[in-house]
Amino acid sequence: MNIKVEEAVCTKCGICRKYCSFDAIEYEDGLPVFNINCVLCGACVKPCPADAINIDRKVLKRDLSGYSGVMAYIEIENDEVKQIGLEMVSAAKRLADKLGEICSAVVLGADGEKVREILSDYGAQKICAVENEALKIYNTEIYTNIMAGIISKYRPSIVLFGATHLGRDLAPRVAGRIDTGLTADCTGLEINEEGNLLQIRPTFGGNIMATIITPNHRPQMATVRPNVMKRAKQGRKDPMAAEIETIAVDIDLKKQNIKLIDEVREVSPFSNVGEADFIVSGGKGLGKAENFNLLKDRVQDLAGMVGESRVALGASRAAVDAGWIPHQHQVGQTGKAVTPKLYIACGISGQIQHVMGMRESEKIIAVNTDRNAPIFRMADLGIVGDLKEVIPKLKNYLRENIGKLEK
Ligand code: FAD
Repeated sequence: MNIKVEEAVCTKCGICRKYCSFDAIEYEDGLPVFNINCVLCGACVKPCPADAINIDRKVLKRDLSGYSGVMAYIEIENDEVKQIGLEMVSAAKRLADKLGEICSAVVLGADGEKVREILSDYGAQKICAVENEALKIYNTEIYTNIMAGIISKYRPSIVLFGATHLGRDLAPRVAGRIDTGLTADCTGLEINEEGNLLQIRPTFGGNIMATIITPNHRPQMATVRPNVMKRAKQGRKDPMAAEIETIAVDIDLKKQNIKLIDEVREVSPFSNVGEADFIVSGGKGLGKAENFNLLKDRVQDLAGMVGESRVALGASRAAVDAGWIPHQHQVGQTGKAVTPKLYIACGISGQIQHVMGMRESEKIIAVNTDRNAPIFRMADLGIVGDLKEVIPKLKNYLRENIGKLEK
């Protein structure tokens, strides 16, 4: 234990236990003894009137020289690489180029050959593919074991995951298993002069950006918010450039502690805001849940023009918190970041937490009764008026302009 009591100095006053939130201090002959609950938080150190408690916080210097390369975890659905997978491999390639190292991609439960071309297109130089039927459906325990094993074997210096439901579950478990740090929900990644990964993410409600480094551990791990990293196709001559390493694993489902009982798919229609090209979004200005039907009508129109899979119904957090629409539709800092060709914000004021999620939209139309609403500062087309009157009129506008909006 790195926490110690100087017996000769301790006055056995018992104050330290009052400051411990983890029930970690017991007493033997009046002297404090720290049990297994102690997390070395240090809350007991300062209050000690005799200065008798010390924590040894010296950083264990590890040999980091054996780590090289940037690895992207690739999410797969129906044997195809998801958009977030392309974002991760593009980001990994950019960082790998800066470091002069290799960009690799890990796919679990998919045929490496099938995803080779697309991953190569986006920068993968090596693909680690684990093909096993048991991996077709995500399982926290099995995936953690395999990812921890792959990282320990290949020793990349950086590993990136999408900050999706899967990535947010998997990445911290893997980081814990291999004893390294993890920065969740990054919106920026850079390399500093020492070659460390700068992991940039909003904090304190989005008011400041924190830059986090992991100088003493490897790999440096981050989850990255969807739709913030550009998908960057590399100009390659050989369409099958990435080398594939197929990894065999033996999975006994009976031995697993975690068993998948049922898989429940999202049921809310038009909720795929993260991948939609056209989003009609509603906020508190809608006034009541039923008024989302006005927006649904425009979403249906757009679906008829460009296809259902490309349109979605969005919402501000205020609308979600009011219980008018499920959280899957929420756009913003604690919802999804979106990058559509068109974002129509109806009755949304444009608070920073909402804007953070939709500011990368190619074109923004805002409808609001308040001409000073902040959303108008970023709108390409601002309509001052009551959404109940304006939204029905957008039908013709969309039909007439869909060609231009598609470009
Ligand atoms: P309001 O700010 O109340 O705006 C309603 C707008 O509707 C007003 O501008 C009003 O003029 C207009 N209006 C009213 N009636 C009409 C009408 N008839 N026709 C047209 N316009 C009308 N918010 C998010 O959206 N996403 C997030 O992910 C998110 N994360 C957050 C995280 C944190 C840590 C915090 C603290 C907040 C977060 N928020 C988020 C909340 C955010 O700060 C705002 O409260 C929220 O975005 C406001 O939603 P709104 O614009 O719908 O509501």
